[in-house]
Amino acid sequence: MSEMIVKRNALLAQKVIKGLESRNMAGYYAATKEDALQKALELIPAGSSVTMGGAMSAIEIGLVDAVKAGDYRFIDRDAYADKRAAMLEAYDADWFLAGANAMTDDGVIVNIDGNANRVSAIAQGPKHVLFIVGMNKICPDPDTAMKRARNVAAPVNAQRFGLSTPCARTGKCMDCKSPDTICCQFLITRFSRHPGRVHVILVNEDLGF
Ligand code: SF4
Repeated sequence: MSEMIVKRNALLAQKVIKGLESRNMAGYYAATKEDALQKALELIPAGSSVTMGGAMSAIEIGLVDAVKAGDYRFIDRDAYADKRAAMLEAYDADWFLAGANAMTDDGVIVNIDGNANRVSAIAQGPKHVLFIVGMNKICPDPDTAMKRARNVAAPVNAQRFGLSTPCARTGKCMDCKSPDTICCQFLITRFSRHPGRVHVILVNEDLGF
């Protein structure tokens, strides 16, 4: 990454953090994946129960492996035979690790979900939500953020899960009503009524999609 991009990202991150603070959410900037991992582990107290939903960026910085190996109780929903029990346990977690499909540069977070386990836990349930967000997700306005979520994140996710959606074939949202659509629920996180619940670590890397 060029020096100019590094400087631009550091400046832009400060704007995003101010936007988050104006929305009762906390933001932090990490220059590297390693710094982001260190900050995340500082935020999550030892002994916490931790779960996740579609958090590719948290996986990419090594946070999920660190939680599994560390002094935490990781709630692995995939390990439960009873998916409803797993979901209810996840809602009661101390920390929920999440990614963003897109963010505006003034701190609004955009996510799209098919089953809604991820967006519902972001909205309510877990005591804290920690987003790991690469600077590639930052968009200049809500319209651009929604377009990114529908034309970049959703098609890649549809391909990743082998779904039969138009975007999986074309790489672009076709506003489908396919039975496989992952665009069932849209969550715009624009304010938190609960100080200290939502934290966002912005990382000077391309993370997730
Ligand atoms: S609405 Fe359909 S085509 Fe558009 S991104 Fe969602 S799943 Fe893909």
